[in-house]
Amino acid sequence: MKKQVTALLCLSLLVLPACNAGTEATSSSEPAPTSEAAPQAMPIEYSDSGYAEAPVQADADMYAMDTVMHFRVYGRDKAQAGKAIEDAFAEIKRLDALMSTNQKQSELAVLNRTGTTTLSKDNAYLLKRAMEINDQTDGHFNIAVYPLVKAWGFTTQKYNVPSEETITKLLPLTEVKDVHFDEKSGKVSLAKKNMGLDFGGIAKGYASQRLMDIFKKDGIPGGLVTLGGNTQLYRSKPDGSDFAVGVQNPQDVEDYVGVIRGSDEAIITSGIYQRFFERDGKKYHHIIDPATGAPADNTLSSATVICQDGTTADALATALMIMGRDEAIAFWQKNADRFEMVLIDKDNKVTITPGLQDRYTPKDRPAPEVIAHGA
Ligand code: AMP
Ligand code: MG
Repeated sequence: MKKQVTALLCLSLLVLPACNAGTEATSSSEPAPTSEAAPQAMPIEYSDSGYAEAPVQADADMYAMDTVMHFRVYGRDKAQAGKAIEDAFAEIKRLDALMSTNQKQSELAVLNRTGTTTLSKDNAYLLKRAMEINDQTDGHFNIAVYPLVKAWGFTTQKYNVPSEETITKLLPLTEVKDVHFDEKSGKVSLAKKNMGLDFGGIAKGYASQRLMDIFKKDGIPGGLVTLGGNTQLYRSKPDGSDFAVGVQNPQDVEDYVGVIRGSDEAIITSGIYQRFFERDGKKYHHIIDPATGAPADNTLSSATVICQDGTTADALATALMIMGRDEAIAFWQKNADRFEMVLIDKDNKVTITPGLQDRYTPKDRPAPEVIAHGA
């Protein structure tokens, strides 16, 4: 509950996705809830938006997909804003039931248990996108990494440092080429025993993208959602002005290093501080390098991707974390028309792409380094 209050406080100032880092899992006394818990929606709060164009503002929190979510919707009246939030709740419940690896009956859980299943439309789309992004990122983004995520205990919060021997045994079970998928029928099968898929690096971005479709269908003039470290902006504020989204400070999750102004886009952060545990004085985070089978080990502490499509932004942010700073910059230079990004190093140095220069404002720190366009 404390985390939900924090999320609301943050939102009254600006959108601070990092504030509701409900997924943070440490060896501290408060265990993170598991996604076995059914999604839980909190009461909707209505207030005066201050905008003549859409006088009602509706805010609501939800706990689902292992994280605290916040929805804000502007509406011409309470009925319109409230319906958009109720529809958002329902959509998240539907997606959680399809994609969770912990809900026994979800399509993914069945696939991971039995090695084969037929995916419905949403999961089939997500698998296709995940495979495309695996290809584009040289295998860094890899949903077949599930056996490793499990071995490190991130699926159950029973954390564990697997032996070299275990990792060597599991690595051959994480190859995307062994995921056989027929797009037409949705039939998927895993070629080797004990393989499994994990949509944790892409599902929240897809979910926020779907919520944009819901808001469009409901005809609201503007709104936004934050799903853990993922923010997606639906259009703009009712007067046409931009939203302001805080980029979390990896060294203090209640703080932010700067603000991005924007509308109609996804702003999605992956970070080593979002979920981790400590063993013998060493921190182990949840973003697994498929080349080594261990948490990615480079100078980055977070990567934020900004682009129109939430699914793409989510997968790319995870991939950039595995690439590390230099490779991430080279990747952006080759794909500069696809996305903008903010990289934060472990010493809290902030680096941005040139497209953000006019809309990123640092908070109490020097101007960020701006990446040059590639040759
Ligand atoms: P994100 O917070 O979007 O970076 O996603 C991290 C989550 O994605 C982890 O908790 C795992 O469930 C999953 N994951 C870990 N490593 C990878 C990887 N290399 N590729 C895709 N998903 C991953
Ligand atoms: Mg991701």
